[in-house]
Amino acid sequence: MQVYQKLKSKDISIVIPLYNEEKNVERLHSFLSEALGGINREAEIIFVDDGSTDRTFEVLSRLKMSDNRIKIIRFTRNFGQTAAISAGFDYAIGDVVITMDGDLQNDPKDIPLLLEKIEEGYDIVSGWRASRQDNFLSRKIPSRIANWLIGLITGVRLHDSGCSLKAYRADVVKNLKLYGDMHRFIPALASARGARITEVKVNHHPRKYGNSKYGLSRTIKVILDLITIKFLLSFLTRPIQVFGLLGLGSFSLGFVVCFYLSMVKFLYGQPLADRPLLLLGVLLLILGVQFIGFGLIAEMQTRMYYEIQGKPIYVIRDFIE
Ligand code: UDP
Ligand code: MG
Repeated sequence: MQVYQKLKSKDISIVIPLYNEEKNVERLHSFLSEALGGINREAEIIFVDDGSTDRTFEVLSRLKMSDNRIKIIRFTRNFGQTAAISAGFDYAIGDVVITMDGDLQNDPKDIPLLLEKIEEGYDIVSGWRASRQDNFLSRKIPSRIANWLIGLITGVRLHDSGCSLKAYRADVVKNLKLYGDMHRFIPALASARGARITEVKVNHHPRKYGNSKYGLSRTIKVILDLITIKFLLSFLTRPIQVFGLLGLGSFSLGFVVCFYLSMVKFLYGQPLADRPLLLLGVLLLILGVQFIGFGLIAEMQTRMYYEIQGKPIYVIRDFIE
């Protein structure tokens, strides 16, 4: 417990997205209170009601009367887990922000483990559900594949990037803009900004009340999101280097093909009309020009992206005069 001494007051914000979790909220709150009681830190609990149509909000309001650590954010409709987490980040005032699910699958008892790692100097600590209590075929297998792919593409190798139980140093999440279902990729996004990331094994329980909000279709979404992430991570500050290279390659190849065909035509007088190669050559030339044009437009977009936000293209950890 000693290790937490360094954190100041209003140390932690717990952010919990809730969508139709009326049967879980009360138990969750009491488990959470118990866990927080063991940590000598000032905490706030931010419940984000993501447009629940059951009694989730009523239960939350009642809980709030007896616990002033609770803050409730209630959406007008269901905006999705990423939006809910994002709202929690925006309103959190803790030095460390911890996210977890509101369905009792994550265990509040693991919070001290995460805090310990933050104290060691990590910016992000991700939970790893080493014995995950979910369906094998529809959950564990797709998740294995997804984690492997995510590691391969983003370079951030976590066993379980889908685990909601995570802790972040506040400055990591404060300037984060999340879209789509991007909350799963926060470590990857943050790593691009130099965040130090680690993982710890955490408990996982089967869902007892209410239903999961996701099915197999999530896997496809994760893969599509991965393409965006790859683009953001690798190309955001230098699109012309990527598209320009593709363009030059394609254009050169097209040029060689067309040059060869011109020789055939002019030197040997052979007709070109029935040669599929001509089609390929022309296609490569056009593609090349388009890639380069696309790269240039992307360069302008990139400048707008950074300059409109007044965002530097670097992140400083320490500055010593
Ligand atoms: N959730 C949410 N909005 C949504 C879907 C889910 O706030 O549109 C919340 C949900 O209430 C839960 C957490 O996100 O607290 C994780 O959802 P779920 O348990 O359904 O996901 P799973 O554990 O099945 O991956
Ligand atoms: Mg769940």
